Amino acid sequence: MSLSDEELERYARHIVLPQVGGVGQRKLKAAKIAVIGAGGIGSAVIPALAAAGVGKLTIIDNDVVELPNLHRQPLYAEKDVGRSKAELAAEFVRHLNHFVEVQPVHERIASDNAPDLLAGHDLVIDGSDNFATRLAVSDSCVRFNAPLLSAAAVQFQGQVGLFKARPCYRCFVGDAFDADDCDNCAELGVLGALTATVGGYSALIAINSLVGIGEDLFGKLHLFQGDSLSWRAIRIPPDPACKACGSA
Ligand SMILES: [Zn+2]
Repeated sequence: MSLSDEELERYARHIVLPQVGGVGQRKLKAAKIAVIGAGGIGSAVIPALAAAGVGKLTIIDNDVVELPNLHRQPLYAEKDVGRSKAELAAEFVRHLNHFVEVQPVHERIASDNAPDLLAGHDLVIDGSDNFATRLAVSDSCVRFNAPLLSAAAVQFQGQVGLFKARPCYRCFVGDAFDADDCDNCAELGVLGALTATVGGYSALIAINSLVGIGEDLFGKLHLFQGDSLSWRAIRIPPDPACKACGSA
């Protein structure tokens, strides 16, 4: 996959980095990423990936913009209230970078349609707001052997984990939340700048993983505490009894 003169100029500050170079930039162009949830985390992840030159983006979200979204979702403006987030986010991407092929999907993803919606993607980024969706997405990714970057933010706490095959996200969460459909943000609150921080960090992990920067990226959960401003990482052990990736 080659880069045009315009792309070489556009991505010059990437290409000059020894860790990225032309090879890394072409890997980004070749990548097809699904982003689930065009909310607070999506508002940071989607622009970062589109600006970085990821070749294909699928944006999956069945919500419309509501007024209480605007404090953490700068993809949208006041005039957008009532409109589809997936469509608006795709419009944003087209304006930002015409080299990106973007596909909006205004659908709720669940265990029945996840395999169809996620097949063929090199990376799935899940910034949705409930455990039932997250677990359905994770199970599909395990089935396809697709890498999953799962990101969440609530109150002042953020977490981001990159999983592939085993351990999976279900090893970390367990099975208790399959029926949990609550909107954490509505019930518990979330600081707007926290979702931007967690989303930006997620985009960085995604790009590192696609380009091949750093090592030991999988199976680790990065935890951010927004009031004390500290990051730490823990390793997720594989659950032998995991119903998605376990051997049982
Ligand atoms: Zn598992």
